[in-house]
Amino acid sequence: MMYKKSLLNEKMRRKREELVNLGYNKTDSVSRVDLNFKNELLSMPGGDVLKLCYQCGLCTGSCIVSRNVDTFRPRQILRMVQLGLKEILKSEDIWRCVTCYTCNERCPQGVKLTDVFTVLKNRATQEGLLPKAIKELLKAIHQFGWIYEMGDVQEFEREDFELPDIPEASPMVFRKIAEKTGLNRLLDIEEG
Ligand code: SF4
Ligand code: SF4
Repeated sequence: MMYKKSLLNEKMRRKREELVNLGYNKTDSVSRVDLNFKNELLSMPGGDVLKLCYQCGLCTGSCIVSRNVDTFRPRQILRMVQLGLKEILKSEDIWRCVTCYTCNERCPQGVKLTDVFTVLKNRATQEGLLPKAIKELLKAIHQFGWIYEMGDVQEFEREDFELPDIPEASPMVFRKIAEKTGLNRLLDIEEG
């Protein structure tokens, strides 16, 4: 019995230490843990494997974005999800994954990190936590059908490379989706 208790204390001590290392003080860490968030992520399709992540760091070591962006650490994001730290949704890092699938292929535990990032982005969007850069990009698609306005400069450059004319953009489908899903409201776009 005594042995079990000291094992539990040791586990809690390690967990607290880990939270502090992730940038949370003791009081913060307890109040910020959201078990509903954690359970929601664990219950998503394929979410059960999240529990299997043993923090080997191969995902971070393999990630092309991590190599160039100091703050982007997939292993750490996975750990925050495991611990139920919902404020990961406020981090712009969850938008940095470029879905190259390298980590999915290399993870020894079969964790599908790209699925985790998709869920995190969807949840962040539901809570109105779209980063400004993503908003601007979506607004451009809504307006032009491209992620930025194609002008004469682009046409001239394409001519130099003997590329065909830029095809006509058709943002109508995107606009309909944005209207039906409520994305227009998030982007402050007036409907009608
Ligand atoms: S590679 Fe897999 S097991 Fe290792 S830290 Fe990343 S998600 Fe976890
Ligand atoms: S899928 Fe995303 S997190 Fe994984 S290696 Fe590629 S960019 Fe990094």
